[in-house]
Amino acid sequence: ARTLRIGLIPGDGIGREVIPAGRRILEALPTSLGLKFSFVDLDAGFETFKQTGVALPDKTVETLKKECDGALFGAVSSPTTPTKGYSSPIVALRKRLDLYANVRPVKSVAPTPAFPDPIDLVIVRENTEDLYVKEEKTYDAPNGQGKIAEAIKRISERASSRIATMAGEIAIRRQKIRDTTGDTTGKKAMVTITHKSNVLSQTDGLFRATARTALEQQRFKDAGVEIDEQIVDSMVYKLFRQPASYDVIVAPNLYGDILSDGAAALVGSLGLVPSANVGDGFAIGEPCHGSAPDIQGQGIANPIATLRSVALMLEFLEQEEAAARIYAAVDGNLAEGKLLTPDMGGKAKTEEVVDDILRRL
Ligand code: NAD
Ligand code: MN
Repeated sequence: ARTLRIGLIPGDGIGREVIPAGRRILEALPTSLGLKFSFVDLDAGFETFKQTGVALPDKTVETLKKECDGALFGAVSSPTTPTKGYSSPIVALRKRLDLYANVRPVKSVAPTPAFPDPIDLVIVRENTEDLYVKEEKTYDAPNGQGKIAEAIKRISERASSRIATMAGEIAIRRQKIRDTTGDTTGKKAMVTITHKSNVLSQTDGLFRATARTALEQQRFKDAGVEIDEQIVDSMVYKLFRQPASYDVIVAPNLYGDILSDGAAALVGSLGLVPSANVGDGFAIGEPCHGSAPDIQGQGIANPIATLRSVALMLEFLEQEEAAARIYAAVDGNLAEGKLLTPDMGGKAKTEEVVDDILRRL
């Protein structure tokens, strides 16, 4: 059996309650899949910062680079007041491991009056450039008319091309899953390029043109991946009116950030929505929620965002069958609707939900 080594970075708050659930589901996967896992516990976060003065110890980064195939990251608390020397460990991890994509699938639990058709889309956000290069400056306006602040929005062909290529590959993989599971929604493989090139003709214009070229590769054509595009503001409108009509959405960093938090609101609890930070040959699964100090220590955190993040990490480690098992077990729990945590209107504890999902593997 192949052994995958997984770094576990629980972080702060409920991160410490949900990451153990992630470990449990990996350990519970059927042996018939031919997979084994080994684990290494790693530190990062605000607690780590308070104890050691660094939020992301070098040892964590080095261990991930040298030993691990993938990792799970819980959540971190941010200081409530500006704290000297503190910076977000997940942002630093993305940089140091060149995890250039943030992937966020958004899937509805059940039809609602507002959204009768099933929502099943994924947002693929470029993670290394755009306005997030953080090259800002502030200076005095001429004639003493206050201050002016400016920021660089940087878009490169290289980053735009690799993110669009990843979006195309995700579209192919999703179509394969729909084909093998006998999907009845009639959804087609499609990548929607999001931009504002009507105004930002050079930066967003380059993103749009490069993404289009990347998606015109023959292998995407052969797999029937359609290319669609949408100006970002009208994208928000359509995403909230007809979310069922989207499959894969690819966006530069800032639009992707905003769209992915917005899309998470379409499906109810934050406790359901996973994400993955992905580079070439490495993936970190990360639930979208934060450290939830309001419920920490009560054993009632919803583990589903984390369990889905485990599955997402496995997809990028080319373990699609194991991923599919986890998705199906989670969907089974949600469809039955008997063992749910309080954020979903239930009374179950984290552990009870995990036990129920493990039974369904
Ligand atoms: P949050 O996501 O921690 O919580 C928002 C609300 O959702 C809370 O009421 C919380 O109880 C609920 N919630 C979140 N996850 C849940 C789960 N799994 N099960 C049940 N309920 C859940 O966001 P916040 O309160 O704005 O932030 C708290 C801390 O987390 C802050 O320090 C913030 O900076 C940090 N944060 C970290 C990340 C991250 O690590 N990626 C993301 C967002 C916020
Ligand atoms: Mn965000």
